[in-house]
Amino acid sequence: MLSYWENVSFINYDLIIVGSGIVGLSTAVKYKKRHPSATIAILERGVFPSGASTKNAGFACFGSISELEDDLQECSEDEIVALTEKRYRGISELRKLLGDEAIQFEPVGGFELGFDPSACDRIHYYNGLLENVFPSAPFSEVTEDLKNYPFSKKVIHLIKHQFEGTIHTGKMMRSLIDRASELGIRIYTGCEVKQLEFDTNPVRISTVSSQQTVEFRASQIALCTNAFSSSLLPNLDLEPGRGQVIITKPIPNLNLQGSFHYHRGYHYFRPIDNRILLGGGRQLDKSGETSLAFEPNDIILDQLKDDLQNLILPGIEVGVESNWTGIMAFGKSKNPIVKKASENVFVVARLGGMGISIGAGVADDLIQLLETQ
Ligand SMILES: Cc1cc2nc3c(=O)[nH]c(=O)nc-3n(C[C@H](O)[C@H](O)[C@H](O)COP(=O)(O)OP(=O)(O)OC[C@H]3O[C@@H](n4cnc5c(N)ncnc54)[C@H](O)[C@@H]3O)c2cc1C
Repeated sequence: MLSYWENVSFINYDLIIVGSGIVGLSTAVKYKKRHPSATIAILERGVFPSGASTKNAGFACFGSISELEDDLQECSEDEIVALTEKRYRGISELRKLLGDEAIQFEPVGGFELGFDPSACDRIHYYNGLLENVFPSAPFSEVTEDLKNYPFSKKVIHLIKHQFEGTIHTGKMMRSLIDRASELGIRIYTGCEVKQLEFDTNPVRISTVSSQQTVEFRASQIALCTNAFSSSLLPNLDLEPGRGQVIITKPIPNLNLQGSFHYHRGYHYFRPIDNRILLGGGRQLDKSGETSLAFEPNDIILDQLKDDLQNLILPGIEVGVESNWTGIMAFGKSKNPIVKKASENVFVVARLGGMGISIGAGVADDLIQLLETQ
């Protein structure tokens, strides 16, 4: 039973956001700035955000040529342009919201490693397609720079995306949490939402923590639960996609700058703190990785270690320090779901593999829905 004090001081809000990933936190911060008197709470099941936003690689990325080529099999040119715009707008929003220093944004460029002699033939086409998205042509061939990189001779082309970069994922998420706290947004962690009662006003939302069940109430609820949304809202076009990541031990004299992709964007790596962070490989076991469980996948981890030793740093002895997983959300459409689910319940999900790039922009789309109710 709740006390009188708990009932009057902790339970009722104008807006409750479920999930403290990049989308939930950006929405809370931006909404509060626009509506300073609104009372807002975020309910998060983990000790800290526990989906994808603290698990990712920190690429400020917009799609490499082979990835866009892959997307073109399923999407129209107009859809590709719109998606790329969303990614570029999202990163600009994130930088504006938190500042480059707080997120350690580094405009180091994105580089696609090519293994196929025809890899560069499409640069001109994609620069034309995206000419209204970026300030100038994004892609250029920089194969001659390969001599400066330690990669295997199997890499025969290098294509640069001049507007891509990296962020420090941990600093970015900490900074979002700090910003939310400064604005008086309550964040309850270890608090899993188990049930929503849709048709009441205010909406009732039942949560469990290790100690008790609590029923919160709010005029509006936004589910920012990405891959985990189906347990609260069935019938969404949503499929989980797990991602595996490895971080190496420090590597003496590692002189590498940039963010790197290969195999249609499925594989990626970057330097951080004199280490290499590498991940991906979901295409190697797609059905195994269609999972909400945070578990390693040896098929993929073995391939990542092989790539590290034989493709990225051949001839250099490198130790792996640790590995982890994060859960993304995909579906038939590549666009995120941002929609009203009932009178005062809203949902954002299916952020895909570039949710850090689009997250802060998607928050604006959600706020527009909340405001037009
Ligand atoms: C390994 C990996 C690498 C990636 N690399 C990049 C990259 O380099 N660049 C990029 O742009 N994107 C990348 N992404 C994708 C990006 O991280 C995600 O798309 C993005 O973080 C999704 O943000 P979100 O806020 O929608 O979801 P999440 O971060 O998953 O947040 C959802 C939150 O909801 C909480 N939650 C769920 N259910 C409940 C419940 N019932 N009650 C309470 N809380 C709940 C979860 O604990 C979680 O904290 C990567 C993802 C992974 C996994």
